[in-house]
Amino acid sequence: MVGGGIIGLAVARELLRRRPGTSLVVLEREPAIALHQTGRNSGVVHQGVYYPPGSLKARLCRRGADLLTELCDEHGIPLERCGKVIVASNERELRRLDELHRRGLENGVPGLRRLSGAELRQVEPHAAGVAALHSPETGIVDYSAVARALAAGVDVVTGCAVERLVETREGVRVVHAAGETLAGTVVACAGLRSDRLAVASGEPPDPRIVPFRGAYRLLRPERRELVRGLIYPVPDPRLPFLGIHLTPRIDGEVLVGPSALLVGGLGWPGTWRVARRFWRAGLSELHAAASSRAFAAAARRYVPELRRGDLLPGPSGVRAQAVSHDGALVDDFVLARTQHTLHVRNAPSPGATSSLAIAEEIVNSLAAP
Ligand SMILES: Cc1cc2nc3c(=O)[nH]c(=O)nc-3n(C[C@H](O)[C@H](O)[C@H](O)COP(=O)(O)OP(=O)(O)OC[C@H]3O[C@@H](n4cnc5c(N)ncnc54)[C@H](O)[C@@H]3O)c2cc1C
Repeated sequence: MVGGGIIGLAVARELLRRRPGTSLVVLEREPAIALHQTGRNSGVVHQGVYYPPGSLKARLCRRGADLLTELCDEHGIPLERCGKVIVASNERELRRLDELHRRGLENGVPGLRRLSGAELRQVEPHAAGVAALHSPETGIVDYSAVARALAAGVDVVTGCAVERLVETREGVRVVHAAGETLAGTVVACAGLRSDRLAVASGEPPDPRIVPFRGAYRLLRPERRELVRGLIYPVPDPRLPFLGIHLTPRIDGEVLVGPSALLVGGLGWPGTWRVARRFWRAGLSELHAAASSRAFAAAARRYVPELRRGDLLPGPSGVRAQAVSHDGALVDDFVLARTQHTLHVRNAPSPGATSSLAIAEEIVNSLAAP
């Protein structure tokens, strides 16, 4: 196994559950597990509202949310179902809200319902909009804690970067920082580096990972009463992310963000095409990376009382988003299998929510001829 993020650890656990006694090791290049996307995300347990029905995201998010709930119960990890509203700020956004409602119902999102502006105020007294969707089961969790629970009983070697995987007739030669290891099968869950590892192992260069830095602000503690649960805007369909949202964290902090700032992948033609498209879309999320004023302005559209002075500096994380050569953002999860190797080539949000279901999917695929 390559990668000690939530997906690599979930796959390791699933393999050991199905075949106890399997000789398995997770090689992680950092000095500890979960230091990248897994430990730097919004902490939301999504319920599957956004994703096109029939997509891997739609199916694995729903299943993943259920499996995650069971895992948290089993390990005593706090998972709070604080609920989420997606707010339409104006009449123009109503059609997109309708489409999200239709998708959510088709995806089986539990308890999903449409709210009027007045009903929205009952759920979130400080939010304002012409209508909203309410997903009462959407929750929050500390994904680092989940990763630690998944790693229990798994042999993880940290500080060991894998350079490449060489397929042989019998298996895979794993070339890594400490030498070489022969494996029967390798699953590579390398997050931001998944494309580099795949290419170094002789896989096609398409799609490439384009990293987007997501910065957050924190609500001042005395202003946390502005939110009860998660408050999201209707996403701009031209952008791959969900928009600046307000997210209570399990430790009591409230995150505002994340922004989306392209921070690499400039050698890939697709990146430039994406950048041009974002530019035309108004770059609003990218702008927000720069100033608290832009963050506050984005969030004020649906929480009008929020002021720039309510925001404090917050954490950030880098999102791994696959982009094809022609500049299309690869929306769905991508799992690419060869004879003895499986590369996870795209696992953006809701990858953490879906991790246990992605693991099932991968282990099923390894079992198939
Ligand atoms: C800002 C942000 C907000 C998000 N919000 C949410 C959310 O609210 N809900 C949700 O469900 N999802 C969310 N996501 C997405 C979610 O975090 C990811 O889908 C998920 O963490 C992916 O897990 P992973 O194991 O693939 O990647 P990672 O957590 O990035 O792990 C990959 C691991 O592989 C290791 N690695 C890389 N290359 C090598 C190598 N060559 N050799 C050895 N080890 C290697 C890395 O060091 C790393 O530990 C968010 C992501 C970000 C960044």
